Amino acid sequence: MSEVRVPGRVPSPLVEIADERFSRHGVRLLLKRDDLIHPALVGNKWRKLVPSLEAAAGRPLVTFGGAWSNHLRATAAAGRLLGLETVGIVRGDELAGRELNPSLARCAADGMRLCFVDRSAYRGKAGPEGPARLLREAGAPPDAFVVPEGGSNGLAVRGCAALGEELRGLVDVAAVACGTGGTLAGMAAGLGPGQRALGVAVLKGGFLAGEVRRLQREAFGGPRGRWEVEERFHHGGFARVPAGLEAFARDFEDRHGLGVERVYVAKLLHALTVLAGEGAFPPGTRLAAVVTGRPFP
Ligand SMILES: *Cc1c(COP(=O)(O)O)cnc(C)c1O
Repeated sequence: MSEVRVPGRVPSPLVEIADERFSRHGVRLLLKRDDLIHPALVGNKWRKLVPSLEAAAGRPLVTFGGAWSNHLRATAAAGRLLGLETVGIVRGDELAGRELNPSLARCAADGMRLCFVDRSAYRGKAGPEGPARLLREAGAPPDAFVVPEGGSNGLAVRGCAALGEELRGLVDVAAVACGTGGTLAGMAAGLGPGQRALGVAVLKGGFLAGEVRRLQREAFGGPRGRWEVEERFHHGGFARVPAGLEAFARDFEDRHGLGVERVYVAKLLHALTVLAGEGAFPPGTRLAAVVTGRPFP
């Protein structure tokens, strides 16, 4: 493997905050500030992508995402930082020929070549033929290193084990918002005995636990660590931010002076607040919320 230099600030800071919605129940809330690891490969995307950048060893990167994908932006930024060619296959052919939204404009400004595909072709990448056809149609370079949607390959999951390792001995429960579940799968594997991981699904559909098991098999050959998933806090689905959640996030920002990313982090913090209120954590619990990202732009 060639030397790939994308230094990040790890271990990321772990800071306790005072919030009576938790302290009232004897719970200590700590923020694991992964949002401070890297300015362009934000949060868990640094942990997930750096191992693939090393494995790609200078080859072009091809990956997939929706119109607001944090993963696409991180991949494009990595391409700029390392001088790699990047191709982003974007879900939704209706986006082609229109003005780019700010997220895709950032990808393009970082040098990513965007290729828009219709939703059924995009879904086909998970089918029996895999992404081969999409890659051909996108004109992806034949030697490209392909990173799956959301960045969750075995390398990413193993990279996220370090997140758990950084929390060993410091907390009782480590909670993270989940899209693909790759971060949860890795974090749970890295935690020590007596610790447990909690994943909050931001998509609806109930497939998260199965995905975490699959990703742990891919990364480690079998199950690792103690973890569970909460499916009650998706607020209607991916990227849905109903008024109640928006109000919760603004209030959290006012209380704690922290920019709350809406798609993932707001749902995590809201879920933990409700769970604490329900008495889900015994008094004395040290509860870490992983701040996996920050608001864009
Ligand atoms: C991508 C992302 C996640 C989800 O990570 P998975 O490993 O796909 O579960 C969580 N939070 C933020 C801010 C993200 O950008």
